[in-house]
Amino acid sequence: MIFDLHTHTTASDGALSPSELISLARDNGVGCLAITDHDTIAAYEQIEASQLLDLRLIVGIELSTSWQKHGIHIVGLNVDRDNSELRAGIARQQDARVSRAKEIARRLVKTGIDDSFLAVQKLAGDSMIGRPHFAQHLVEIGHVKDIRTAFRRYLGNGKTGDVKQCWSDLPEVIQWIRAAGGTAVLAHPAKYGMTWTKLRALVADFAASGGQGIEVVCGNQESNITKKLVDICNDFELAASCGSDFHQINSWSTPGKFAQLPDTVGKVWDSWSI
Ligand code: AMP
Ligand code: MN
Ligand code: MN
Ligand code: MN
Repeated sequence: MIFDLHTHTTASDGALSPSELISLARDNGVGCLAITDHDTIAAYEQIEASQLLDLRLIVGIELSTSWQKHGIHIVGLNVDRDNSELRAGIARQQDARVSRAKEIARRLVKTGIDDSFLAVQKLAGDSMIGRPHFAQHLVEIGHVKDIRTAFRRYLGNGKTGDVKQCWSDLPEVIQWIRAAGGTAVLAHPAKYGMTWTKLRALVADFAASGGQGIEVVCGNQESNITKKLVDICNDFELAASCGSDFHQINSWSTPGKFAQLPDTVGKVWDSWSI
């Protein structure tokens, strides 16, 4: 069975609605899907059980945090979405997203971009406001030619608009997931631009804080990276997860299309009753 345990919808910065994503995942042969929008589980309120047919849906979320000045993402899988501790945590993250967006707009003013908060808030609508909406705005006003350039110049790692000191810290975010009976998974470890030594220090802190899993395969990842992540997964006695981190069609990732996890790792779903 294909497990895709990391995907996005219009509830955060994905392009497809939850039902469009579900159809695409099913067409691609996914048997078990987790929708993991940034800091929200709103997608699950838009899904009817009848849409799923034979597709198994695992309730998930991708929570933002920071560790030693790096923006880090923790995927929570198989959570009880009615859990009050998780709900309170999500409410905090959502407030943080709004104040962060105001701060991003303030910082961008210093680089000569007119206050963009209201326009960006409008672009986000009911979705979780984030840097991709700022990127879209900068393209729409003609300030940059495309989204990539917006991230490269203004919003990416270490740039003016990369505000990350607003998030709850790593142990707290892991605790919300665990309180809701979920599995806390370190998302896309190879995408933080860290050295392997630094990444191992992060994984050590993550595991010591109650983290249980790590994404050993994320989208179209090179096989030498997967090999290193298998070692890290086993060295820290974590369970392996996998997912596309799908956001939109015709991009670098597609639901269900990625390498299988090797037999040498335990899987996050081994501990679930599904
Ligand atoms: P935020 O959740 O507001 O911190 O924004 C992070 C999101 O921006 C990520 O989940 C990606 O979807 C997107 N993103 C990050 N870097 C880039 C990039 N270089 N180009 C396009 N999108 C990006
Ligand atoms: Mn995203
Ligand atoms: Mn992420
Ligand atoms: Mn993601």
